[in-house]
Amino acid sequence: MGLDLHNPGHAKLSLLCEGINILPEATQELGTKFTEWTNSYNNSSQKLKEGINVIPEEFILPEDVVCGVRYRPSSPWKMHFDKSKYFLTYDDEYICEINLPPRPAFYSKTLSNGEPIVHYVTTYSVYAIGIFLNRQCHLWKDKMPCAFCSIAPTSNNFHNSHETPPQEKIIEAIKTIQESDPRFNYLEISSGSLSDYDKGFSEALELVKKIKPSLKKDMKIHTLVQPPHNFDLLKMLELVDEPTFAMEIWNPELFKEIVPGKEHFYGREKFLELFKEGTRLFGKGKLSCQFIAGLEPLESLIEGIHKVAEIGAVPQQAVFHPDLGTKLANKEPPSLEFEIEVIKTLRDVYKKYNYKPYRHTCRRSSPDGEAYKGYFDNL
Ligand code: SF4
Repeated sequence: MGLDLHNPGHAKLSLLCEGINILPEATQELGTKFTEWTNSYNNSSQKLKEGINVIPEEFILPEDVVCGVRYRPSSPWKMHFDKSKYFLTYDDEYICEINLPPRPAFYSKTLSNGEPIVHYVTTYSVYAIGIFLNRQCHLWKDKMPCAFCSIAPTSNNFHNSHETPPQEKIIEAIKTIQESDPRFNYLEISSGSLSDYDKGFSEALELVKKIKPSLKKDMKIHTLVQPPHNFDLLKMLELVDEPTFAMEIWNPELFKEIVPGKEHFYGREKFLELFKEGTRLFGKGKLSCQFIAGLEPLESLIEGIHKVAEIGAVPQQAVFHPDLGTKLANKEPPSLEFEIEVIKTLRDVYKKYNYKPYRHTCRRSSPDGEAYKGYFDNL
């Protein structure tokens, strides 16, 4: 059975693979009424090349399915605006109305020192705010960046961003946001790698410790940071609801090729030890392992999903998107056929092990949450 584009989970999968063209009239309220793209990492849009000034980071499909935007002028998907409604077409056939996330109040607020809050915190989804701790990564400085990574080229576009934002300012920002924008229920903490992995991990988790008491009760914490060499530090993950480590690639040869810095400074085997130790400490299903779908053969990715799940970590994917300024800028995203097989595998694995993928209610860059929620049960 093929995709049914009127099923919001299926539409999201297709949109992440095929991208979307955004018509100019659909951009007019971005930056005023609705949220514009501000993320200081992962710039997959072609807007700089194509001359569009602003795009949304995401939109909301029917049934509150949050979908990230991959701007591709050649896509069969189009985003329109007419008579105060936003809607999508595929090959010029009407598919559905969509909503755009309202621009958060904190986007125009400042801290006590007069600095804009968005220099410290941004949205990671309509329901998630995010802190990007180290906005540079030592793997770029050591000339071994992950081949898909856009942290260095993207940060050059954000001149006002701090390379390493001070923690007391982050805490002030989070407190202010919770007072003015009650819709957020996830805090995402991510970071580029310091050359001292234990230090980078400890700093991120120390921030969690400081910030946790000021969070409202339903605010969950998700972390995506470089893992420590010293596994004694993993105990610090106790305070994190959903800790993820990004192994990215399962195939051993492609691991060396696509994530050479991770191979050199950490090692594929060490990732597997990490997931074993995390499972020993916290039980199955607490840690998750992120792969990038579309950079290795389907068979090896599927093998990786099963192996990681057996160890005790929740396998997850981010659908590969070619970012400007990266080695893989000209590589195509995975085909629909590829991605359908991946999502069917994840659907079955989540059911088999009773695993829940992280930020399953609002993750925009992957249909994993929709697989968990049953949107692909009939595939
Ligand atoms: S670890 Fe890889 S993907 Fe992450 S910031 Fe560094 S180079 Fe980029």
